[in-house]
Amino acid sequence: MKRVNKFRLRPTKEQEMVLFSLCEMSAVLWNKLNYVRRQAFFEGRFDWKEEGVNELYNEFKRILGSATAQQIIRKNNEAWRSFFALLMTIIRSDCYRIEEVGNKKYLVLPKGLRIRTAGEIKWRGKQGRLEIFYDDLAGRWYAYQSVEVDQPSATSPEKRAFVDLGVVNIITAWIEGERRTIAFSGKPLLADWWYLTRKIAHYQSIAKKANGVDTTKRIRKYYLKRKLRFRHAINTIVFRFVKLCYEKGVTKIIVGDVRGIRQNNDKGSKVNAMIHNFWNFKYIIDRLITTAENFGINVKLVKENHTSSVCPFCGTKGRRIKRGLFYCPKCEQVMNADIVGCLNIAKMCGAIIPNPSWRGRDNGGLTHPAVLNGLQTSPLAL
Ligand SMILES: [Zn+2]
Repeated sequence: MKRVNKFRLRPTKEQEMVLFSLCEMSAVLWNKLNYVRRQAFFEGRFDWKEEGVNELYNEFKRILGSATAQQIIRKNNEAWRSFFALLMTIIRSDCYRIEEVGNKKYLVLPKGLRIRTAGEIKWRGKQGRLEIFYDDLAGRWYAYQSVEVDQPSATSPEKRAFVDLGVVNIITAWIEGERRTIAFSGKPLLADWWYLTRKIAHYQSIAKKANGVDTTKRIRKYYLKRKLRFRHAINTIVFRFVKLCYEKGVTKIIVGDVRGIRQNNDKGSKVNAMIHNFWNFKYIIDRLITTAENFGINVKLVKENHTSSVCPFCGTKGRRIKRGLFYCPKCEQVMNADIVGCLNIAKMCGAIIPNPSWRGRDNGGLTHPAVLNGLQTSPLAL
């Protein structure tokens, strides 16, 4: 937990001079950092390991001391990160068009913007809204256009992906026929979300005590920040997952419907109940539906009934053990609890789950997912 102490300083005249020059030089460094970042950003070559930043560090470590210079650079990076988190916009369907000139394509936007675009136009039909967002990991801009298609091409055989939504793992999934399950970790997002939730609670209690009000401009700002960060992270994870499904030839994504409160497991502690009440599963599901639609994949929601309390391999009632693990007394195996949920959804839908061969190593891949961190690059990230 973070706490902040506030001190009043009483410097002497000479000390004050030193402080002024320290602060002044810090401000100079801050502005120069912004200049370098902005320059790189507008030239389309933004990179966290920007050479110009290193040069500034070397220049200012002599003036400010290396630790201070480092702190200022870190703080500046944070500011840029939250700037990127905001970089998403939605264009109404009648406010843009895609022009094709020969084999070149351009996206024509308001304010006279005409942007060269890459990638084939996979779906044609009545154009819907367009979402533009900046992927700060890839350093690239993307646009997602939703298109109303009459008849999705139903030539490919049906292949399903089964999804369990959660908080620690945002998406846990098994694609029919695979011997590996996957999960997208929500831990970094959760940490960020908690931090902002505590900040909101802290300022709310101050506002209540001091002025008897429930909200202030600052509180609203934190709510907005929390929402935008959440959405940005979810968009990225959902996009990566759906793209993976698309590449694996998935035609249908089946999701356990978690809208509403979960009561069926050991997440009954106050903290988890709170997350489940405020964590926006509806947004995640909506994003999943929209993104999948853009890739021509259907999404179906199914009720989760006891999907996390029985073993997906033998049907025996098992129990939850610590840290999201499930234990089946008959198979005598520990499995990832989200996987249990996800495989039970698959079973409920009539999918054939590979036989467990506990002695072999292959089943480990099924009951313990490869965790893909949707927010950082990992060898498996797309
Ligand atoms: Zn079992």
